Amino acid sequence: MAPDTEYETHTHDVLVIGAGGAGLRAAIEASASGVSVGLVCKSLLGKAHTVMAEGGVAAALANVDERDSWKVHFADTMRGGQYVNNWRMAELHAKEAPDRVKELEAWGAVFDRTKDGRILQRNFGGHKYPRLAHVGDRTGLEMIRTLQDYGVHQGIDVYMECTIIRLLKDGDRVTGAFGYYRERGRFVLFQARAVVLATGGIGKAYQITSNSWEYTGDGHALAYHAGAELMDMEFVQFHPTGMVWPPSVRGILVTEGVRGEGGVLRNNKGERFMFGDIPDNYKSSTADTPEEGWRYVIGDKNARRPPELLTRDHVARCIVREVKEGRGSPHGGVFLDIAWIKEKIPNAPEHIKRKLPSMYHQFKELGNIDITTEAMEVGPTTHYVMGGVRVDGDTQVSTVPGLYAAGEVAAGLHGANRLGGNSLSDLLVFGKRAGEHAAKFARENGAARIPAGEIEAVVRWALEPFNRTSSEGPYQIQQSLQEMMQRLVGIVRREEEMLEALAGIEKLWERARRVGVIGNREYNPGWHTAMDLENLLTVSEATTRASLIRKESRGAQFRDDFPAKSDRFSHISIVERKAKDGSMEVAEVPIPEMPPELRQIIEEMK
Ligand SMILES: Cc1cc2nc3c(=O)[nH]c(=O)nc-3n(C[C@H](O)[C@H](O)[C@H](O)COP(=O)(O)OP(=O)(O)OC[C@H]3O[C@@H](n4cnc5c(N)ncnc54)[C@H](O)[C@@H]3O)c2cc1C
Repeated sequence: MAPDTEYETHTHDVLVIGAGGAGLRAAIEASASGVSVGLVCKSLLGKAHTVMAEGGVAAALANVDERDSWKVHFADTMRGGQYVNNWRMAELHAKEAPDRVKELEAWGAVFDRTKDGRILQRNFGGHKYPRLAHVGDRTGLEMIRTLQDYGVHQGIDVYMECTIIRLLKDGDRVTGAFGYYRERGRFVLFQARAVVLATGGIGKAYQITSNSWEYTGDGHALAYHAGAELMDMEFVQFHPTGMVWPPSVRGILVTEGVRGEGGVLRNNKGERFMFGDIPDNYKSSTADTPEEGWRYVIGDKNARRPPELLTRDHVARCIVREVKEGRGSPHGGVFLDIAWIKEKIPNAPEHIKRKLPSMYHQFKELGNIDITTEAMEVGPTTHYVMGGVRVDGDTQVSTVPGLYAAGEVAAGLHGANRLGGNSLSDLLVFGKRAGEHAAKFARENGAARIPAGEIEAVVRWALEPFNRTSSEGPYQIQQSLQEMMQRLVGIVRREEEMLEALAGIEKLWERARRVGVIGNREYNPGWHTAMDLENLLTVSEATTRASLIRKESRGAQFRDDFPAKSDRFSHISIVERKAKDGSMEVAEVPIPEMPPELRQIIEEMK
């Protein structure tokens, strides 16, 4: 039977790919400016990663501590990112996040409240003051619900369970996207004057991850193959606290909110090991004693934060060290204890259940652990990628005309390490900006043309796996890649291991080109995975190559063979693009000079 190469066509001014917080916010903004908007998502609307966000959204509202301001938030974000952030994005983010959160409230988000009725804010790692607006530990759910409710009334056309596999171009300009519906396997063409990528992260390139099946680096790879640049791909965040037991749930996130509410980390000797390793640049802002740390948790403004709330990169490495040196928990993690707060407050179990309801249920259901009476076992899990599409800080346009990126798929804001809570605010601030500027581009540029040959080529590529007879399926290749990235390009990296990974990726590319699938096109996850492999391999190669070039340790990148920071790399971003011969080109690009007034803020806050 001849393959069914037919496709349906939809035309929009702006096409938004991804319906998490960034995509929804971009779609709302574009639509509000009067252009027609299509919103595509790989799974059902509302099932994006954003819905899983637990701890909160960072914004200097100063509701709990009046000393907070956009300047402190800016300085915290830059320090957390080890000063290789896009400073313009860090500035805009800190200035605009409060308005974006208040706007969300005006659209119906029901945040937890202070006693006098304002949005409540909680402590989180790397934030000087309590800054995370939250809804228990289900903040992402409230955010998605609110954006969705608001968005569907704007007249946005939503295409669900639809995966984009190529961006299409006319000359230099992106003019649309091509994809398939997961359920029926039918192809679909979107013609658009501007495209916003909001596809989230790359966590599925690793074996242990908090990310769900969707996060195969699609947007990163789509942009790269369309000629856009990727930046900072060496910076992959390993969140210090994922579940480690039982094996079936390994990697599932344990929110930093547990530590924000007073949870402490202990090794198998019962020691709070984080007190033994406080980086110099955080010494002055970290508690000297457990007693001071607790006072901070309960809001004493003269106390400094406990070392459990140091940045994620550092806490993750301390946990790895404890485990390596034989002080780990029975299943290869360390202990995270929130139950201990019963020594300090009455009705602690009720308090824990109220502040961390999802964590309580997660451990009860998945691990048969009652976190109000027992310690959890936790260890690092691949969580977030700071790297992504290189964009202009103000407009979110990539280096390809007509192509925008926002949220986790875009690079810049977080530098070498993201602070918790800064992603949800990133989505709101830069989702809005991307939507606004994509709509402007669509209004100012003529109708889009799609070269016919491009569609035929992508259809042929997509259907090829059905014609191959290889006995190896896509899952074997995916698992080999995940295992290799975890082992060779993980939390602690060294040159010879990464070179081994690059050789391994080369071999996996060959295997992926031969991969075959069976069955038909109707809901065929094997076929979907065969296509995802190109994305996973592209982002894995980008991460490995960038890590090799950055010969230093900074934030999330820890090089065993270069354990210190280097001056040479302190003003450099690693940028990757596809060369004419199809190979991956890697360049060291200087970070633009920071204006004196921003530099002064950083100095004042040190
Ligand atoms: C468990 C967990 C807890 C977290 N907690 C917090 C927190 O408390 N605070 C915080 O700030 N951050 C948190 N984060 C991080 C934060 O949730 C994410 O970084 C953020 O939600 C990413 O949002 P996004 O809009 O960029 O993408 P996502 O919300 O990841 O959405 C991506 C969208 O793109 C779609 N998509 C992907 N590929 C394709 C394709 N090829 N075709 C079509 N559609 C596609 C997906 O279907 C989805 O709709 C957490 C993350 C996790 C996993």
